[in-house]
Amino acid sequence: MNYRQLFLQHIAQTSPTPIGLHMQRAHGIYLFDVNGKEYIDGISGFSVANIGHSHPKVVNAVQQQASEYMHLIVYGEFIQQPQVAYAKLLTDHLPATLNCVYFTNSGAEAAEGAMKLAKRITGRTKIIAFHNAYHGSTQGALSIMGNEYWRNAYRPLLPEVYHYEYGSAEALQAIDAQTACVMVEMVQAEAGIVKTSNEWLHALREQCTAKGVLLIADEIQSGFGRTGTLWAFEQTGIVPDVLLLGKALGGGMPLGAFIASRKNMHALTHHPVLGHITTFGGHPVSCAAGKAALEVLLDQHWMKEVKEKETFLKEQLQHKAIKAIRSAGLWMAIEFDSFETNQKVIHHCIQQGLITDWFLFRPQAMRIAPPLCIQKKELKKMANIILQSIADAGIHA
Ligand code: PLP
Repeated sequence: MNYRQLFLQHIAQTSPTPIGLHMQRAHGIYLFDVNGKEYIDGISGFSVANIGHSHPKVVNAVQQQASEYMHLIVYGEFIQQPQVAYAKLLTDHLPATLNCVYFTNSGAEAAEGAMKLAKRITGRTKIIAFHNAYHGSTQGALSIMGNEYWRNAYRPLLPEVYHYEYGSAEALQAIDAQTACVMVEMVQAEAGIVKTSNEWLHALREQCTAKGVLLIADEIQSGFGRTGTLWAFEQTGIVPDVLLLGKALGGGMPLGAFIASRKNMHALTHHPVLGHITTFGGHPVSCAAGKAALEVLLDQHWMKEVKEKETFLKEQLQHKAIKAIRSAGLWMAIEFDSFETNQKVIHHCIQQGLITDWFLFRPQAMRIAPPLCIQKKELKKMANIILQSIADAGIHA
């Protein structure tokens, strides 16, 4: 059977040039294709496999839960132990005000749920978001995406959404008594790892509190140790009103969540009841997998090593063709002079056994986000592949 042809024929394509590798299995930081070729996963499937692929404890949790029960009923009706146990573990590692979890299918659904919650809590409709922000691809999440090129083809979208420069004073001034929520990333992911100052984040927190606006932090990519702490907001000193999680949350299984205070979350239970409905959100197998993955992450020393590995990898990546490296832990944007250069280097990296990619709003930057369990010698190998790929692509400066 020609799977490549079938893939192109029967699987909906979103890109004219999909990577199109045919993988057979994945383990730790490695992926293996059907010909047995080994690849380092340099992006963790876009920050999903933070503890590596197919960790035995996660596989065991999936098998165990699947053998007990899978789907039973729509969200929220039965006591499903994997959901409850995972919500308890998550909230044990969050500030007291973030003590109630709504599990969804995906990150985008978490963003949708959080925006709906903000409307209910505040009775307002205005939403503030940022240029170059990505919060998902459904129409509500798309409305707050910070890039007109991707939004425009799908208009009309949500009204009363206003975008501002990340870190700007203008954004702070725009937060007023009509604003329901501000949706913000602690580090802007798809902008190509762009940080803001803690001062600005504190001012944002203060302004939201002063105007009765919900501050929603999207940690879908930055969570689960990626930046060196479990949550990136821990390094800022601010606490959001709502936290969005996804990607690594499910330990490789589909899962998202919006987390708020029990008091605020209560708004979803009345006028109307069933304020957010999902059939598969918080699937018991996904929750069992996610809980097992978080337990592994908490047991291991990987988060403590993130900063050291970040410095080490950056030191290895010295080349005239690399214009800059922006990083936040084991999460980097390697900046080239153009998308064309980046594409060529990425192509050679993949050929040499390193999976990497570009950023949605920063196509000239190469994405680096390996599993946190990666060893220094493997980081060195990654760096060597990147440097060799620059040479193979014929890029000199
Ligand atoms: N928020 C951020 C920061 C993301 O990176 C993503 C996905 O890339 C999402 C939200 C949406 O998550 P999902 O693809 O699970 O809907």
